[in-house]
Amino acid sequence: MTNVPELFGSMVFNQKTMKDRLPKETFKALKKTLDNGEPLQLDVANVVAHAMKEWAIEKGATHYTHWFQPLTGVTAEKHDSFINPQDDGTVIMSFSGKELVKGEPDASSFPSGGHRATFEARGYTVWDPTSYPFIKEHTLCIPTAFCSYTGEALDKKTPLLRSMEALDTQAKRILKLFGKDVSHVATTVGPEQEYFIVDHELWSQRKDLRMTGRTLFGAKPSKGQEMDDQYFAALNPRIVKYMEDLNDTLWKYGILSKTEHNEVAPAQHEMAPIFSTTNLSVDQNQLTMEVMKKVAKRHGLECLLHEKPFAGLNGSGKHNNWSMSTNSGENLLEPGKTPESNAQFLLFLTAILKAVDENQDLLRISVASAGNDHRLGANEAPPAIISVYLGDELYSVLEALKDGKPYKADKQEKMTIGADVLPPIPKDSTDRNRTSPFAFTGNKFEFRSAGSSASIATPNTTLDAIVADVLKAFADELEKSADFEKSLNELIVREVKSHWRIVFNGNGYDEAWKVEAKKRGLLELKTTPDAVEHYLDEKNVKLFTEMGVYTREEMEAHYDIKLEKYCQLLNIEVNTMQEMIYKDILPAVYKYMSDVSKTVIDLKAVVPGAKAKAETSVLATLDSLTDALVEKSEALAKVHEAAKSCGDSLASAKAYAEKVVPAMADARAVYDEIEPLLGEGYKPFPCYEDLLFRV
Ligand code: ADP
Ligand code: MG
Repeated sequence: MTNVPELFGSMVFNQKTMKDRLPKETFKALKKTLDNGEPLQLDVANVVAHAMKEWAIEKGATHYTHWFQPLTGVTAEKHDSFINPQDDGTVIMSFSGKELVKGEPDASSFPSGGHRATFEARGYTVWDPTSYPFIKEHTLCIPTAFCSYTGEALDKKTPLLRSMEALDTQAKRILKLFGKDVSHVATTVGPEQEYFIVDHELWSQRKDLRMTGRTLFGAKPSKGQEMDDQYFAALNPRIVKYMEDLNDTLWKYGILSKTEHNEVAPAQHEMAPIFSTTNLSVDQNQLTMEVMKKVAKRHGLECLLHEKPFAGLNGSGKHNNWSMSTNSGENLLEPGKTPESNAQFLLFLTAILKAVDENQDLLRISVASAGNDHRLGANEAPPAIISVYLGDELYSVLEALKDGKPYKADKQEKMTIGADVLPPIPKDSTDRNRTSPFAFTGNKFEFRSAGSSASIATPNTTLDAIVADVLKAFADELEKSADFEKSLNELIVREVKSHWRIVFNGNGYDEAWKVEAKKRGLLELKTTPDAVEHYLDEKNVKLFTEMGVYTREEMEAHYDIKLEKYCQLLNIEVNTMQEMIYKDILPAVYKYMSDVSKTVIDLKAVVPGAKAKAETSVLATLDSLTDALVEKSEALAKVHEAAKSCGDSLASAKAYAEKVVPAMADARAVYDEIEPLLGEGYKPFPCYEDLLFRV
């Protein structure tokens, strides 16, 4: 049995370890950096580095690395050992403050969009002291932000920190209007992580899983998720062992792994941590994904983080629970108990409605990827249309405010902001709308469109920035007002009215919603290129630059990178698909056909006049299906070539989305007809049933 409190954070240089290991004065100085973002002086850094190294060596570390998050979306690390040669041929282990605070990895091979000139090859990493260093395997990992020498962010962390700062600044202005002088407002995030687990041996026999993380072929198994018997079901013993190991490892790294359960699809599971400050949550989610994969390998399993590993079954997402809270622990999305605190809550809520409505495109872009395109808009995940779910009670309150009516038929008086108390807003688990991309769940919003494999840095950077932008506009307006209460009332009613179209409490999977959303003028950006096309719209550049989150150059680079990555991913998928057709599928089918043909010949020799109807019929069917498969493969090759040679990255991405993706589906459909006809021993690779039900 694990002693959890003892294990928890044992590999993390957290505040307790800092306090235990650092001289009082040093700890005090470091605490100022941690709490107020004051820069770390080199003499302090030297003492911290020394203590950190001693601690790390005791835990078995020999190396250190600046752990950062380049625009690839995965983490990067280059290990350096602590060894320092001495004159007498020996080494000592050393680590300086300079090495702790700043690193200089070679950035030339990381994506930088078309901006290699601006984005100098050489960049540097700086420690983000608000995210604790930790030991992974034999390496001390120091969470860092990654910038170029000219100051452009080369990573996902820097803009995230900038967006948190923007939100902090603007939220404090708003709180000041309510008479509150807080020193810090941070956003908080709890990401629920979905994943699939399959057997390693079976996984290794499928090129598509190995190369692309998802199945490119595969007929529907006789049983899928239709029985709803998997969700929250008792765990199979192998999965129990896996989850135990996963939890132990996550706890060691100080990750607050809290909830685990089976998800809707067979072989699908979820882990949810307790929320923390956004930058920490982002770091920890990156580490969680890495740990999930490594631990699976230790158990002869594979963890699939792809958004859609299996057609016809639910895909995986990452529900991004998001809120804002002050340094004194006040959750700004918690409906209050007094008229005063309700007014404040309603203002923040209104800001979010406005931010989401005005920036549907940015939110959609923040979760756009080739993998996630399979999910958004299929009948399982939130639709590609962004809308906000409020729950019945809050919906009625806002509707009443907007229309100037009493919020309940039995109440005579209409509600006045700042004078009335809100009705209790239930954190009702029954009416939680699973189909909404952006749902209020009692004291936080849950952004459900994020994909399971992607970093949550970008969606959170976007959320923080768009909300900060609106809070700024609100603060600008309200600070000027002579009658705060009156202006506040007017502002809330006005903004709720003008952004009411974004509120949708109904079923997001319903086809009727698409029609309705269109009528309301909401965007439906179906594919990644459809979405990314809007990234550099003037409104978006203005917002991000004004909030100090991205520069125009950074955005131009992101635009290129997003499209490039989309095309590259699909290119790999097509190549894999073609190889599987010629190297795996056709040879397997030919072998089966040959054996059946021989059977017919043998049979006719033994039983004169035998008709061999069944055999001939299956042969004829397979003959025409193999023809069709080759035809579809050739058609795919043609549109693939065309997409590759578009020249312009947006045109290329669109060609992939509009021509290549459907051609891939066509080729797959033919194989999916072939698979059920083949004898068990003739399958080219493990089928869905093997993967999903043999763990
Ligand atoms: P569920 O949505 O399954 O009912 P919870 O509401 O308890 O579960 O929480 C889901 C996730 O939301 C958890 O990761 C939890 O820590 C996180 N969460 C709860 N409160 C907040 C908050 N104020 N800010 C961010 N995330 C939060
Ligand atoms: Mg939830």
